[in-house]
Amino acid sequence: MLNIAIDGYVGSGKSTLANEIAKKLALKKLDTGAIYRSIACEYRKNFDFLINAENVERLVKNLKIEVVFEKGVQHVKINGNDYFHHIREEEISILTSQISPYISIRDKVLAVQREFASKYDCVIEGRDIGTVVLPKANFKFFLTGSEEVRAQRRYDQIKDKQHISFEQILKDLKQRDYNDTHRKVAPLIPAEDAIIIDTTNLTLEETVDKCIDIIKNG
Ligand code: C5P
Repeated sequence: MLNIAIDGYVGSGKSTLANEIAKKLALKKLDTGAIYRSIACEYRKNFDFLINAENVERLVKNLKIEVVFEKGVQHVKINGNDYFHHIREEEISILTSQISPYISIRDKVLAVQREFASKYDCVIEGRDIGTVVLPKANFKFFLTGSEEVRAQRRYDQIKDKQHISFEQILKDLKQRDYNDTHRKVAPLIPAEDAIIIDTTNLTLEETVDKCIDIIKNG
């Protein structure tokens, strides 16, 4: 199997890069953030924004995660519920980074990710793919970028869909980066053998070309 891991910060370009690599090399793609986000939606439905270990364990006890592709688009069903239209809401972004540190949640998602990687030649994007999920991935890319540039990208993505200021996006991005890098379990850090790419001054095409070149010649 060919497994490519892409990890990185919010707005560093992981998703776009993963999409392009998958398209160019005819690989399957798994967006693992969408799985955590869908779980956060199910959490909100059951417990609102009241986060505690008891509620997390209640949720995990009967948690059923299914990843399906409808017309080539990834959907995640949590206990049969598809939250596709809600997973990008800003309050879900924050809630996700608050519940994703729980090991019981991570273990459930880990199993889904590894099963996917064992079935398909694929690109998997997230935060801990190169370090925890697929430590033996054939290629590992870790994307970084300045906070302002990453916040601008995120702002451009959602400004037409959600009423939110650039300043709020920047504040949320810093909070999520902090939550993701400071958690005890599977924090966001580059794997020792990851190729680190700073996308601050790179266009999408430049980033994609750089990675494809490495994959083809590596
Ligand atoms: O990649 P995305 O921004 O959609 O991820 C949303 C959140 O899901 C991250 O901020 C992080 O808390 C969590 N996540 C994670 N591990 C992954 C992917 C996402 O903890 N592999």
